[in-house]
Amino acid sequence: MYAFTYLEENGMDHTYQVMVYDSTKDAYIAMMEELPELFSAFQVEDEEFLADSTLRDMAEQCRSTFFLGDMIPPYEEDDVIQILKYYAQYSEAPKFYTFDDIDRNKLDVAAIARHIYDEDMGPRKKAEYVDSLWDSAEDDVLRLFFGKKLYFWRQLDIELMKITQPLIYEDNVIAHEKNLEDLPLHEIGKTNPDLEKRLRDGAFEKAKNQKGQYVCQKCGLTAANRVPFQVDHIVPMNKGGKSTPDNLQILCRSCNARKSDKY
Ligand SMILES: [Zn+2]
Repeated sequence: MYAFTYLEENGMDHTYQVMVYDSTKDAYIAMMEELPELFSAFQVEDEEFLADSTLRDMAEQCRSTFFLGDMIPPYEEDDVIQILKYYAQYSEAPKFYTFDDIDRNKLDVAAIARHIYDEDMGPRKKAEYVDSLWDSAEDDVLRLFFGKKLYFWRQLDIELMKITQPLIYEDNVIAHEKNLEDLPLHEIGKTNPDLEKRLRDGAFEKAKNQKGQYVCQKCGLTAANRVPFQVDHIVPMNKGGKSTPDNLQILCRSCNARKSDKY
């Protein structure tokens, strides 16, 4: 994974991660080595912000030079564009991380919150401690994942609240989930991916037979995996049905298509 942050023209920091697979690894390594040549060929060595058309031309040059042939998973042009934007500002290739490099413990915000609580740190000590983690010279894992210190602080305060005020936290989560009931599942996923997963998983769990196979709740089609099925609102949303566990079921694709035709 390449991970890096660059400045947008509007002054906002933009944090980006490019996933690299076996299929694209060699192409990325070759591209990184040639970045100085590429920038000099396009005569944009001194430009901090590249025009969109230039970026697209450079990305196409990269594609036709490095990313040819079948690649599964494939490369994404946008990834290359982000790397070009970074290079334009820093004149160096972004840092490469393997998943072994990343010390997951350092990202365990709940554990950090627990430490702050156990040590009974006051606001000043807490701030110093957070600074020391954030500015750690060894690595920039926190910066990498949170992008902005503000986001790290927010997450940390939520974890602290779970420890110090569990009831307030629970009430808030429940109230929040209640508001989401009126949204379709994919919309719920945009604000609360875990809730969408729980609702979908629940609909599938309910529909298992004794052999552990999934069963279409209309025609009885069975399958061992989830691919043939879609999660359906028993009472449709346009008839007042909600995205709640009791109103969700699974249907095979053809039953679901037939049902949507009727409404
Ligand atoms: Zn069916």
